[in-house]
Amino acid sequence: MSRNDYQVIIGLEIHAELSTKTKIFCSCPTEFGGQPNTHVCPVCMAMPGALPVLNEKVVEYAVKAGLATNCEISRDSKNDRKNYYYPDLPKSYQISQFDKPLCENGYVEIDTKNGKKKIRLERIHIEEDAGKLNHDDFGGGSLVDLNRAGVPLIEIVSKPDLRSAEEVESYMRKIKSILEYIEVSDCKMQEGSLRADVNVSVHKPEEPFGTRTEMKNMNSFRSITRAIEYEIERQIDVLEDGGKIEQETLRWDDVSGKTFSMRDKEDAQDYRYFPEPDLVAIKLSEEYIENIKNTLPELPESRKQRYLQEYELSEKDANIITASKYLSDLFESAIKVCNNPKSVNNWIISDISRILNETETEPIAIPFDGNQLGKLVILIDNGTISSSIGKKVLEELFEKPRDPEDIIKEKGWIQISDEGAIKEIVMKILEANPQSIADFKAGKDRALGFLVGQAMKETKGKANPKMLNEMFLEELKK
Ligand code: ADP
Ligand code: MG
Ligand code: ZN
Repeated sequence: MSRNDYQVIIGLEIHAELSTKTKIFCSCPTEFGGQPNTHVCPVCMAMPGALPVLNEKVVEYAVKAGLATNCEISRDSKNDRKNYYYPDLPKSYQISQFDKPLCENGYVEIDTKNGKKKIRLERIHIEEDAGKLNHDDFGGGSLVDLNRAGVPLIEIVSKPDLRSAEEVESYMRKIKSILEYIEVSDCKMQEGSLRADVNVSVHKPEEPFGTRTEMKNMNSFRSITRAIEYEIERQIDVLEDGGKIEQETLRWDDVSGKTFSMRDKEDAQDYRYFPEPDLVAIKLSEEYIENIKNTLPELPESRKQRYLQEYELSEKDANIITASKYLSDLFESAIKVCNNPKSVNNWIISDISRILNETETEPIAIPFDGNQLGKLVILIDNGTISSSIGKKVLEELFEKPRDPEDIIKEKGWIQISDEGAIKEIVMKILEANPQSIADFKAGKDRALGFLVGQAMKETKGKANPKMLNEMFLEELKK
């Protein structure tokens, strides 16, 4: 029996903050940031006697998420109190859902290295977020900020169907992309709008599932992958040494690259769930659900198929673009302007993706719009600028978005396509490089590329490269 004979079992509980304007049980704003304790009222501060009122948008958004992930929608659902103590939870209970969640038994399809795979969803329920504790570096101790208390969440619980860190990443990206498409969450992971509790266990295939540990509140793909890989190895080590895995809640530490025990795992009964007495049951009519169904937009998979057929994108490119609603919207609005899907595709896949990676920016934060990207493509297509100037215009669009035409006027980047002017440059470069002329005549074609490169350098990328090529050839053949 070797280490490789263990099978890995993973299930995720994903929390997504809903992008409703107001909180789940009061009318305080959900907006991120703000001075501590300014987005609060008696309800979300848990003053005695304050009563919650369920925000209908929260139900709508959760049902939308359920429909987009193939769930059954409960006609009869309710809220429950989940009792626990934490300093950022002033009520000492969280209003959540216990035995009657809004959505159940769904699935999403993910891409794995062995093809497509269905990941089953156990449930999606609604609940309120807790506040935040900020450590006070000056005074010591912790300060409570209740701005986040009562921000609506959906919790999406998967069945233990995931088998590796790669599958988890693929699943998490799929959920993120669906939630973005249906516009129920901004899914900003750095701000904690999307975070996951990751449950991991290992077992030998002929034996039942092993005991799981749970890593709480993971909010970056990289940490999730590292944490899972670490935890798998740790559990196998324990078992190979003849030990036993304790069911516990762990904290992943990105700096040391290790998991640490936070507390023994609690069971549902420890929370003493009971029906929330201050709220009525949630009864949904067929008509209500049908109406929400009708508002569902086109989802990533269907957009992808359309891109393959209508625009003949490669499967890989279509996957990258449609994975993000923002990239996909950018793509569609840019091609409406320039009618050149191939070129817009290339800009998004290469230069735009590179800049996003380098600056660790999410597509949602791209500062320019499809109209501006489309105009950039037109300027290249009609020869006003070269594609190397195009790259500089793109950088400007990231820096300070404005009309690409204004950018090139302002910077004096218009392409030199005047025959006389090109000729002048060609002659100047030839004069300065007699060795290249000799090389070319001796059959070294590379010399031509070098000369064109020199001319581009001389003109700071503004000369029309096609004209340069032709004119150099003409002169060299004389
Ligand atoms: P709780 O709400 O107490 O955390 P659940 O039974 O709802 O417990 O399960 C939480 C998550 O743990 C689910 O996503 C489920 O898929 C996952 N899970 C359950 N059993 C295992 C296991 N043996 N190994 C890994 N994950 C598991
Ligand atoms: Mg859990
Ligand atoms: Zn409030």
